[in-house]
Amino acid sequence: MTLPHTGRALADAAPVPYWLDRPVRPDPLPPLSGSHTADLLVVGGGYAGLWTALLATEADPDRDVLLVDAGTCGWAASGRNGGFCAASLTHGLANGVERFPGEIGELERLGRENLDAIAATVAKYDIDCDLERTGELAVAVEPYQLDGLAADAELARRYGHDVRLLDRDEVRAEVASPTYLGGMWDADRVALLDPAKLAWGLRRAALDLGVRVHEHTRVTGLARDGTALRATTAGGTDAAPGAVRARQVVLATNAFPPLLRRLRSWLVPVYDYALMTEPLTAAQRDAIGWRHRQGLADTGNQFHYYRLTADNRILFGGYDAIYHYGNRVSPALEQRAATFTALASHFFATFPQLDGLRFSHRWGGVIDTCTRFCAFFGTAYEGRLAYAAGFTGLGVGATRFGARVTLDLLSGTETPLTRLDLVRSKPLPFPPEPARSVGINLTRWSLARADARDGRRNLWLRTLDRLGLGFDS
Ligand SMILES: Cc1cc2nc3c(=O)[nH]c(=O)nc-3n(C[C@H](O)[C@H](O)[C@H](O)COP(=O)(O)OP(=O)(O)OC[C@H]3O[C@@H](n4cnc5c(N)ncnc54)[C@H](O)[C@@H]3O)c2cc1C
Repeated sequence: MTLPHTGRALADAAPVPYWLDRPVRPDPLPPLSGSHTADLLVVGGGYAGLWTALLATEADPDRDVLLVDAGTCGWAASGRNGGFCAASLTHGLANGVERFPGEIGELERLGRENLDAIAATVAKYDIDCDLERTGELAVAVEPYQLDGLAADAELARRYGHDVRLLDRDEVRAEVASPTYLGGMWDADRVALLDPAKLAWGLRRAALDLGVRVHEHTRVTGLARDGTALRATTAGGTDAAPGAVRARQVVLATNAFPPLLRRLRSWLVPVYDYALMTEPLTAAQRDAIGWRHRQGLADTGNQFHYYRLTADNRILFGGYDAIYHYGNRVSPALEQRAATFTALASHFFATFPQLDGLRFSHRWGGVIDTCTRFCAFFGTAYEGRLAYAAGFTGLGVGATRFGARVTLDLLSGTETPLTRLDLVRSKPLPFPPEPARSVGINLTRWSLARADARDGRRNLWLRTLDRLGLGFDS
């Protein structure tokens, strides 16, 4: 149902990501031109690429690392996400148990270690990204979701997570929404942060350690060049084409058209959308409680995620996950009026006491969905190139782990990480078009229908479940 005031609330929302629309955004670094050499070329300056460059240089300060980004570091998913930095490396514990039953305990341990290492890096380099270890509160908004929460809590406890189940009154005492029927609070395994400030802070730390960074520099092709690889680049409008001869390359290009043909069958770019409100007044803050400032998520297939910012705005995102025929990626797809109207309407259904609050920003961004919902890894060109992709909407934390894996893969020696089934196995591929679009759209329709029918999954979803195939954001 579209409430009448959603139009008013959205009327002045700027069509740009809130996080990137602030004066603290750093000036762009010059594009690359001419011929260069490097020990390690990192393609992509989102979290995955930035962590790769930083960790490589920390491990070996003499390693000559060059990073290029087609835009500016953090302009894409890394600078426009919800800022939920989760310990999970597998897009949630249940997905990890399902797909990696033999090593999920180890993956959970590594994920926790990864989250702690992110917090330690933020402290070490004095990265001002408003990191708050408030955890996440999953809420049931339909009666059938209560059983799901209880099952999730039991599973989480089996793996040693300190979670608390909240009944209707307890969850509403935490956050005052008339839609909440129960909740599960995991106070320990999710941090909230300012996503763009994290990306900019990692960029600064990498630069300070001597990483060379060129922005507005797109790699257009890769080829063998003796015992090395040669990347050709196209710069911004006033930069001449360039080239980098690198001993090793890491691809960290997320959902963008991959430079390695084989990645096309494993990845689909999916658009996810978010709204940001103006800052809440003290009275509005009082009206919703939310004193522990947890990240919130409801538990349908089409779920919302929402959180407070440092200056007490509310980011409200999720619900729709939109795929465009032929893996299309374009700035034009970052705006979607129907989704913004739906999100605004769901926001006021969740918090009717905030009637009159306006949204200051509306935006979308692209995520790299794969059929197993968590990253996969590999090498090419006789081990000279490594990649990590497929983070599927939960990459704020997991990209650091992905960076460690790509560096281990390039080392050419077996390590505890490269031995993991998570690292050695690949997701099932998506079919080519037009079957790809038909399958994804049928899945989206079925998921929405399941949400409307007390979670009951139709034959199509049950078949996908049996095959270990899926579509998620
Ligand atoms: C709206 C939204 C909300 C999200 N919310 C969350 C959340 O709350 N928690 C969470 O864990 N995850 C979330 N995610 C997902 C998370 O943001 C991503 O998983 C993560 O940022 C991926 O980082 P990345 O470095 O792989 O990709 P990106 O940040 O997309 O970086 C890839 C970079 O590669 C560059 N590139 C691509 N091709 C080339 C080329 N040929 N040459 C040079 N450069 C190239 C691009 O310019 C880009 O900067 C969200 C995503 C979106 C869009």
